[in-house]
Amino acid sequence: MNILVLNCGSSSIKYKLFDMPDGGELAGGLLERIGEETSQLSHRAGGRKARVDGKVADHWEGLKWVVEALLHPEHGAIRDPSEIGAVGHRVVHGGEQFMGSVPITPEVVEAIREFSGLAPLHNPPNLIGIQAAQELLPGVPQVAVFDTAFHGTMPRYAYLYAIPYEYYQKYRIRRYGFHGTSHRYVSMRAAELLGRPLKELKLITCHLGNGCSVAAVRGGRSVDTSMGFTPLEGLVMGTRSGDVDPAIVPFLAREEGLSVEEVERVLNKKSGLLGLSGVSNDMREVERAAREGEERAEIALEVFAYRVKKYIGAYTAVLGGVDAIVFTGGIGENAYRMRERICEGLEGLGITLDPECNRRTVGRREGEIGRDDAPVRILVVPTDEELLIARDTLEVAGPKI
Ligand code: ADP
Repeated sequence: MNILVLNCGSSSIKYKLFDMPDGGELAGGLLERIGEETSQLSHRAGGRKARVDGKVADHWEGLKWVVEALLHPEHGAIRDPSEIGAVGHRVVHGGEQFMGSVPITPEVVEAIREFSGLAPLHNPPNLIGIQAAQELLPGVPQVAVFDTAFHGTMPRYAYLYAIPYEYYQKYRIRRYGFHGTSHRYVSMRAAELLGRPLKELKLITCHLGNGCSVAAVRGGRSVDTSMGFTPLEGLVMGTRSGDVDPAIVPFLAREEGLSVEEVERVLNKKSGLLGLSGVSNDMREVERAAREGEERAEIALEVFAYRVKKYIGAYTAVLGGVDAIVFTGGIGENAYRMRERICEGLEGLGITLDPECNRRTVGRREGEIGRDDAPVRILVVPTDEELLIARDTLEVAGPKI
């Protein structure tokens, strides 16, 4: 059975077609710049690749392009749309309602729309993707897999902010956490690699990509995570500040003559690695600049590493000890020098890198990078959110297919 996984962003559609339950990837690609003058589809299936340029007005048209690419006689993967058995959608915000993946019904669509207020950049395009897929592939079961769902197990004391409780009741202001599919996938995979049941493990999973978050995972359940009400909280990211004193917001508004929205934009788009280094939001560029002697790039790397280190310490306390630290995401999987910086000085917690293994484990390779004699294991696990979405979709829609 083939399962199509869709991840619809504001101007892009990322997709993968899986042969389930094996998990073999039949095709995949990315359509970018939807709504702009020239849109671009990069598609691959088997060993074949194709690039199509043209104007794609909206997500409806975009999804048509995707289905056409999948059906293409030369670079396609299927002969008829009926070969798509189900569609799994990545949905960013499921509010407090969704603790797991669900079949998409009119009520679920309504709830996703309602949570758009909590994720104004993400839920609306996710919703358009769902509606487009329902129209283009009528009768095909559709499943929603939420980024927030994995963190639905956090205890009250971890998800509540110490602001007047009425604001939680009125606006549902609380920590939700994101990247849940990635934290869940790497936790499961880490247990397999460690050869121990997930139920017995205390893990700290570090998803370090353009967006970055850490999760404390006890027995396969998230008990705390660094992203909060929005994906702005927590670690230093490509362009996001992560944790700041909230009093900085009114201070900057006053001193710089900015509106609240403008300050929010500074914290989301002009901060993080980019804001500190003045070089780039891309870790590779920042590392290069630091090697060439750029002081601000070095500062960005120091602050980035220090923040991750602090969270590892905090979550070791939250979990009452830790069995393994797991690195994933573009930075977590590749930036071995950054992994070195993060783990440096954590020997007292039983966390010691093996420098050789660490250097060797790059380029979507999984493996152990901790010293054999250290009590805490350290793993690199390339994330695969799409595969987990496909598995959930099979499980949820399975009986209907
Ligand atoms: P997203 O969160 O958008 O999925 P990724 O997980 O691909 O992004 O992570 C992107 C980040 O990974 C960028 O900061 C990029 O510089 C970093 N990265 C990718 N490859 C390397 C590498 N070889 N060395 C250092 N950083 C890398």
